[in-house]
Amino acid sequence: MDKKNILILSPHTDDAELGCGGTIARLLEEKNNIQWVVFSSAEDSLPKGMPKDTLVKEFKQVYKSLGFKDSNIEILKYRVRYLFEKRQQILEKLVELRKEFHPNLVIGPSLNDVHQDHIVVAQEMVRAFKSYSSIISYELPWNHLIFNIQMLIRLERRHIKKKFEILNFYKSQFTKERNYFSEEFIFGLANARGVQANSHYAEAFEIIRWIE
Ligand SMILES: [Zn+2]
Repeated sequence: MDKKNILILSPHTDDAELGCGGTIARLLEEKNNIQWVVFSSAEDSLPKGMPKDTLVKEFKQVYKSLGFKDSNIEILKYRVRYLFEKRQQILEKLVELRKEFHPNLVIGPSLNDVHQDHIVVAQEMVRAFKSYSSIISYELPWNHLIFNIQMLIRLERRHIKKKFEILNFYKSQFTKERNYFSEEFIFGLANARGVQANSHYAEAFEIIRWIE
C-alpha cells in the first residue's frame, strides 16, 4: 500500500483497538500518517468509584505504546450514549477534519453496528466523507447482526500480539468481564479472518466507499 493520510474514528476509547488494532499496528509500520479521533471518554460508564479520567489515561498508554504523538490524537468530550444529541456538531467536526487533514482513507464503525453511539459516528462519517475519501468499517462482532466481509487486511502474529498488548491497558474494562478483551477471542477472531484470507491472521472490514 502507498503511504496515506488515514483518519481513524472511534466512538469510545477502545473501539478502534478492538475493531482494527492489528491493522493500526501494520499501518504504523508502513509509515502512514494517521490521525485518531475519539468522540467520548465514556466517563459515565465507568465502574463506581473510578476516577473520571480513567479511560483517557488508559487510552494514553495505548497510543503512546503504539508510538503516536499527542498531536495525532484528539479526544472529544461527548457524553457516552448521547452522541445522537450532538449529531450536527459531530458532522461539522468531521467536515473540519476533512478540510484540514484530507484523509485518503477513513476507518470507522459500521453502518450495521447497533450501538447507539457507534451508528451516529458511522452515519456522520458517511455524510462527511462519501465524495472525498475511501471509507471502510471495522468489525465489532458483538455489536453486529450482520457484517459484510468485503475486505481482509492480512496481519502477522506481531500485529495481533500488539493488539492484545494494547487492549491490556484497559484495566477498567476487565472488571465488567467483557469477554471480547480475552486472549482467546482476540487471537481466535484474527485467526478465523486469516483463514478467510489464506493468511495466519487478518482483520475484516466493510467497504462503504473506495476512491482512488
Ligand atoms: Zn464503543
